[in-house]
Amino acid sequence: MGAPAFSSSPSLRPHAQPAALADQRPPGLPIGPRPTPPPALPRTPIWGPLTCFLDMAEQQETPVVIAGAGPGGLTAAYLLTKQGQHPLVLEADDQVGGISRTVERDGWRFDLGGHRFFTKVPEVETLWHEILPEGDFMLRPRMSRIYYRGKFIDYPLRAMNALRNLGFIEAVLCGFSYIWARVRPPKDQNNYEGWLVARFGWRLYRHFFKTYTEKVWGVPVSDMPADWAAQRVKNLDLRKAVINAFLPKHGQTDITTLIEEFQYPKYGPGMMWEICADKVKAAGGTVEMQARLTTIHVEHGRATKVSYEQGGTTHTVPAAHVISTMPMRELVHTIDPPPPAEVLAAADDLHYRDYLTVALVVPQSRSFPDNWIYIHATDVEVGRIQNYGSWSPYLVKDGRTCLGLEYFVFEGDAMWNMADDDLIALGSKELIHLGLAAEGDVERGYVVRVQKAYPYYDFAYKDNVDTIRKWIEAEAPNIHPVGRNGMHKYNNQDHSMYTALLTVENIDGADHDVWTVNVEEEYHESGSTGRDAPVLPRRDSQGQGPDHLGQGQGQGHEHGHGLAQPTGTLDPG
Ligand SMILES: Cc1cc2nc3c(=O)[nH]c(=O)nc-3n(C[C@H](O)[C@H](O)[C@H](O)COP(=O)(O)OP(=O)(O)OC[C@H]3O[C@@H](n4cnc5c(N)ncnc54)[C@H](O)[C@@H]3O)c2cc1C
Repeated sequence: MGAPAFSSSPSLRPHAQPAALADQRPPGLPIGPRPTPPPALPRTPIWGPLTCFLDMAEQQETPVVIAGAGPGGLTAAYLLTKQGQHPLVLEADDQVGGISRTVERDGWRFDLGGHRFFTKVPEVETLWHEILPEGDFMLRPRMSRIYYRGKFIDYPLRAMNALRNLGFIEAVLCGFSYIWARVRPPKDQNNYEGWLVARFGWRLYRHFFKTYTEKVWGVPVSDMPADWAAQRVKNLDLRKAVINAFLPKHGQTDITTLIEEFQYPKYGPGMMWEICADKVKAAGGTVEMQARLTTIHVEHGRATKVSYEQGGTTHTVPAAHVISTMPMRELVHTIDPPPPAEVLAAADDLHYRDYLTVALVVPQSRSFPDNWIYIHATDVEVGRIQNYGSWSPYLVKDGRTCLGLEYFVFEGDAMWNMADDDLIALGSKELIHLGLAAEGDVERGYVVRVQKAYPYYDFAYKDNVDTIRKWIEAEAPNIHPVGRNGMHKYNNQDHSMYTALLTVENIDGADHDVWTVNVEEEYHESGSTGRDAPVLPRRDSQGQGPDHLGQGQGQGHEHGHGLAQPTGTLDPG
């Protein structure tokens, strides 16, 4: 598809509902249903060019302010500029793209977590192609396997392939262990462990579920509820899978193709967002970098101004609406006057899982065809290894590839606080220990830490999000949380973008319930682009995780964990 069609002419711009009329409420109204807003202004100016001019002037004086230049924030900005508006985007970082940025160091490019561009939302697909020139949006093969005891095992799991790779003796032991579990299933199958053992036996459970899942989430599998496993694993029947393996191919119904395809920008996901930011600026929007939104000033039931800090100076600007992709916990604390104590408490009780990548440059001979491999070994801390050269040859340099070792952590824990050199030494040691590199192979290394990579789903998170959401809807309805951390929701890029798109339409008078995005799809086991996560044990008030696991198993993780899904992934992304 070609370049975006910007409608810079004010006459082409549909009317945004003027700030002064939208959702006005008296201050201090208790939480409750959203009041019926006053009727929206007609979409066609009734007073002709003068009104249109005044309206445009008002828009320029009171822009929509967007916190964050990640996929959510930039999608909102891009769509607003298409309406002829001039949004102001504030980005705390020195780079756009948020979690979906491409980090560049010495000409090496890293995609943190590995971002496949795949969506079932047609509007998002259209936007991607509108933003990125066709030649820069590649179709890439997807391959990912489990690396276990020196062998590559297909993922998603295929029973015979897994058993063959485990070796004859271990396969027989797994068979007996499975039969034993069928005869004497665990009494408590309400937790993830009991549920899986009953269906796969202890040995297969230990090989393929326990370690990796614990690396991802940083909590013992026995503390996770079974329903999450049941939703994800329900279609894999080990007995049927083994029988299928011996049947002629046409008799097989459950075999998944190992290699799929996904779209990918030549220079990684950040390329999409760098070009998007350029388009926003070219169309009259403003993107302020290293500009942290610090305060949203609320008066008479709406946000009227925002303050942000940039280069040591505080700026205050008027705001018609505030679209926020900053973490919900942070958003609540920017609101002035502060929300009531229960709303602040709900915000402080939202938690996150963080993550870091140790990127190691190695000779091309150390490359593998997979985009990433899962590391189920218990004797290393690394959870997954990205091969950036397999994502795109443009991310690496001739004759070498770069492997991104992913460690899943809580911000502030021992691994998070390790010096970069120590992390690089650890990563190199683990790569050699796993047999994926030899002494002297690692040419150099880089460390990238990602705060709040994953919203943490504990037993209180839903109530906390509801409390915050209802308060904002009642007290400052022109503040719009969107995106992933913005809504404390496992949104991929596509859903983050879609929440932004619907919000822009809401500002323009529509009445979408943005919170339903990525809900219906959540537990689809096949081909879903939705993300989900198990509900985890509570973290304490200091934000510390349940301390049952050692450092090595306290690492969390985004893509794919667990092995059991026959047709999709268990990615907690
Ligand atoms: C490991 C991993 C793998 C993933 N894999 C995929 C994948 O394969 N495919 C896919 O589509 N998605 C994937 N995702 C999800 C994707 O990264 C997110 O959905 C997307 O980046 C969310 O966009 P967002 O704009 O909501 O938030 P973010 O990307 O978090 O952007 C928010 C922005 O707000 C800025 N900000 C925060 N506070 C402030 C403030 N006070 N003032 C100003 N700016 C502020 C931040 O600096 C940041 O730039 C993955 C995520 C992870 C962690």
